[in-house]
Amino acid sequence: MAKEELECSFCGRKKPETNLLIAGLDAHICDRCIEQAHGIVIEESKQTGNTELSAELMLRKPKEIKAFLDEYIIGQEYTKRVMSVAVYNHYKRLLQPPTDDDIEIQKSNIIMVGQTGTGKTLMAKTIARMLNVPLAIVDATVLTEAGYVGEDVESILTRLLQAADYNLEKAQRGIVFIDEIDKIARKSDNPSITRDVSGEGVQQALLKLLEGTVVNVPPKGGRKHPDQKFIEVNTEHILFIAGGAFDGIERVITKRLNMQAIGYSSVKDDNVDDDNILQYIIPKDLKDFGLIPEIIGRLPVLTHMDPLDANTLRAILTEPKNAIIKQYKKLFSMDEVEFSITEGALGYIVDKAIEYRLGARGLRSLCEEILTEAMFDLPGSGETKLNVTKSYAEDRLSKSTLKKLKAVS
Ligand code: ADP
Repeated sequence: MAKEELECSFCGRKKPETNLLIAGLDAHICDRCIEQAHGIVIEESKQTGNTELSAELMLRKPKEIKAFLDEYIIGQEYTKRVMSVAVYNHYKRLLQPPTDDDIEIQKSNIIMVGQTGTGKTLMAKTIARMLNVPLAIVDATVLTEAGYVGEDVESILTRLLQAADYNLEKAQRGIVFIDEIDKIARKSDNPSITRDVSGEGVQQALLKLLEGTVVNVPPKGGRKHPDQKFIEVNTEHILFIAGGAFDGIERVITKRLNMQAIGYSSVKDDNVDDDNILQYIIPKDLKDFGLIPEIIGRLPVLTHMDPLDANTLRAILTEPKNAIIKQYKKLFSMDEVEFSITEGALGYIVDKAIEYRLGARGLRSLCEEILTEAMFDLPGSGETKLNVTKSYAEDRLSKSTLKKLKAVS
């Protein structure tokens, strides 16, 4: 081919009309087309996000998400299924290329209702670990409306930015776990009595965040200050998970169930499982408890945690990937001590956790009480074995500050 005949294979410009014409195997491309193509690449990657992330996320179907959760969390079958679907849908929404139909997939923010120590935080942590996205855990009780003593709701996003090492892109795909959401419930049924600083005002302030908006976030936290530089954080793709114990909500649920039963047959429904009333929760119960309807609407996935029975507590001690007993085994093995514990001792620990109403959280404190002395004495002693039996555990606990444990509950 003669030199003057060369042209861009994409736009057809002749070589003299271009600044640069790069030759490929059988084709040429001009500088303008390169720039255009580059623009398209940038646009595409903005829309689909980090390609590494998308590939990883798309690979995990709800069943696989659930299987991952199973490795770390015992029981809570219902919540694990609900979460798996919600998380899957959330990331599907996030990764979808823009379409020209009018169907907009709404955010699947989640609210978990369950006693403390039943695994709500663990659930959020495990999801974040699986997705390899940053997680901020915040306590709703410290949040206040702007202008009051306490933290502005924007501080939630400061935490997320910190968790993402100030990588904005990562933070905007992260997860926020808002614990104790029940503590910002409206205290009074009458919304017009007074302005409720700690409750309704905070709920109002949270609305925008949950829905998806651009927020000016002070990168170092603290109050907004006129001379402070802000980082603009878009919350549209942030997954919010709220959790709370909602103490007393069982009464609200039972009342509703009874009224329903009366409505139909004037007898209480015998099929109601009184040991796990939370499983019947519906959004209206949250409203009756004091969450404003707008908040409930923005946390559309409602789920409950089952109370932990003896079998579950027993399994929590040894089964999860990083189960407490596995951790002690590892700790002792670092000192060349082979640690074992009998079934009797495990059962005893579970019974005590139930007796002191400590739930799963108490398992760890009980183990610490029982093992602290051995962890102090054995390293460097030449002992190579420790077998914890029920009587050993009883003996250690009787000498320990049992009262202290009781006080915690
Ligand atoms: P919550 O947020 O509901 O108060 P957490 O998630 O903080 O409870 O649980 C406290 C601890 O108890 C966790 O660190 C975890 O070790 C353990 N735990 C609670 N529930 C479970 C569970 N279902 N499976 C495994 N471990 C659990």
